[in-house]
Amino acid sequence: VADGEEFEFQAEVGRVMDIIINSLYSNKDVFLRELVSNAADACDKKRFLALTESDAPPEPMKLRINTNKDDRLLIIEDNGVGMLKDELKENLGRIARSGTANFVKELGSGEADVSLIGQFGVGFYSAFLVANQVDVYSKSFKKESEGKIWKWSSSGHSYSIKEAEETDLFGEQSGTKIVLHLREEAQEYLDTGKLSDLLKKYSEFITFPIELYNEKVQYDQVPDESAPPPKEGEKQKMKSVPRSVYEWDIMNKMKPIWLRNPDVVNQSEYTEFYKTTFKAFDEPMTVTHFKVEGQIEFRALVFIPSTMPFELTRDMFSPEGRAMRLYVKRVFINDKFEDLVPRWLTFARGVVDSEDLPLNVGREILQKSRTLKIIRKRVVRKVLDTIDDLRENDPNKFESFWTSYGKYFKVGLVEDLDYKDELKRFVRFWSSKSGDNQTSLDEYISRMKEGQDKIYFVTGEGRRAAEIAPAMEKMRLKDYEVLYMVDPLDEICSQSIVDYEGKKLVDINKAGLDLDKSEDEKKEMEETTKEFEALATWLKKQLGERVQKVQISDRLVESPATLVQGEWGMSPMMQRYMKSQTT
Ligand code: ADP
Ligand code: MG
Repeated sequence: VADGEEFEFQAEVGRVMDIIINSLYSNKDVFLRELVSNAADACDKKRFLALTESDAPPEPMKLRINTNKDDRLLIIEDNGVGMLKDELKENLGRIARSGTANFVKELGSGEADVSLIGQFGVGFYSAFLVANQVDVYSKSFKKESEGKIWKWSSSGHSYSIKEAEETDLFGEQSGTKIVLHLREEAQEYLDTGKLSDLLKKYSEFITFPIELYNEKVQYDQVPDESAPPPKEGEKQKMKSVPRSVYEWDIMNKMKPIWLRNPDVVNQSEYTEFYKTTFKAFDEPMTVTHFKVEGQIEFRALVFIPSTMPFELTRDMFSPEGRAMRLYVKRVFINDKFEDLVPRWLTFARGVVDSEDLPLNVGREILQKSRTLKIIRKRVVRKVLDTIDDLRENDPNKFESFWTSYGKYFKVGLVEDLDYKDELKRFVRFWSSKSGDNQTSLDEYISRMKEGQDKIYFVTGEGRRAAEIAPAMEKMRLKDYEVLYMVDPLDEICSQSIVDYEGKKLVDINKAGLDLDKSEDEKKEMEETTKEFEALATWLKKQLGERVQKVQISDRLVESPATLVQGEWGMSPMMQRYMKSQTT
């Protein structure tokens, strides 16, 4: 075995370490939650890797926790995916996640709460809240590991890695053992009673068994020598003698929350599950929990976050931002499958647990699976029901839903033919009569003028631009309500809406707008046309190829002339948008 190599932490990790080591933070319990959740993640990852990289089925996975009072050690072990040497360096010496820098800064200035550490991808380092030395033994499940076990070790300032001699990981195939050399003031974590309480709290939502090497007092019945010897026909008097025994006790015997009957789960349990499982800070905006039985069988629990998940703030379809966890018979498969819910529900977080899909389900199988198509359809149905419920019964909540996720629904309307018609009832636009709130198409229709059979809209870069479009003059004069399409997405969306409740959507900026006219108006128009025909011909000649045609129109009130698109033309905003997409 070669001597250990010594490595420096990346500067940012160094800062996290300094803060944690010197932390006077009193609730040090969080370290256990972080290490347990890492171990559970590692089991999830192995499950997935076993599907794609290995022919051997993985051994049953679990977590084990035990103590060594003499040496003041707390040991947390899993038989999950393990880490290669390079992965130890990469994962336990650097910070990959963006957004962590801010957290570190706030942590340093005392603004951030240490208990949030796990949400910033630095949960592991919380081990140093209670330990002055941490050893990590790990054997990777990946083939290139060649069965080697590596030992990562640190007292907080730098770390070393060397090949380990120990072979006492409980996992045959792979796993990680974390040995915490507890600080003197953290001895309480040797107490199995305390550990058992904490583990029950933190492991409730973890689907792998968590075992604690638990000390129990057992009473043996032995002959009581101090008693007088028994007489004929009498029994020897016995006494109880206490004896410590250790056994592996399972800490999480509760059914996973999505398997329970929705009637027996309360809101705070859902919230807790949501926060722990999806590393969320917020409360869920909605909860949809149901089961389907019959030809196909599955359970689903879906949340809509009340604030946009961080990963989606920069890229609304970031694959990293997907978090619908697919389970097959309680076994976690993957949370990044694209086919579980449509793209326009990327922001949903949840669990689907199927009884029918095969355990070795991969992306290709899934794409073709009829079962999955049915699951997807049912999940979307239920989630839309939940949102419909908001829409009908909780306008404020619906408004905040729409502010956050409206753009997803608009995209859905454009790209998802299966749901195009359904999504129309949710869309909201600004309009010339909507005031401070946006309006739905239903509301628009309820305000339509007698005899009006079309839904009018105008495009413009922003509400103000739409408001002052020349074409609006006539509409205002005639008192027609006009929807404002204020960004390229609105505009694409308006094109794919086409019609709603039998009413066509019409762009007032495009030629062919035919507002109802009285006989007098028609006559006047004919005269005007005659009068200005020569001017129009002359203008067309002057402008040549730059315009398609010059037309006398009565759509303006005060402006003398306006540029319009042909009925099938693109608006200037759209043209600019298309251009920006291709360069
Ligand atoms: P996060 O869990 O948010 O990624 P952590 O600081 O908790 O951040 O862990 C960093 C990384 O270290 C994990 O992403 C994982 O790759 C690796 N890791 C930590 N604990 C284990 C473990 N028990 N088994 C395998 N890998 C682990
Ligand atoms: Mg973690």
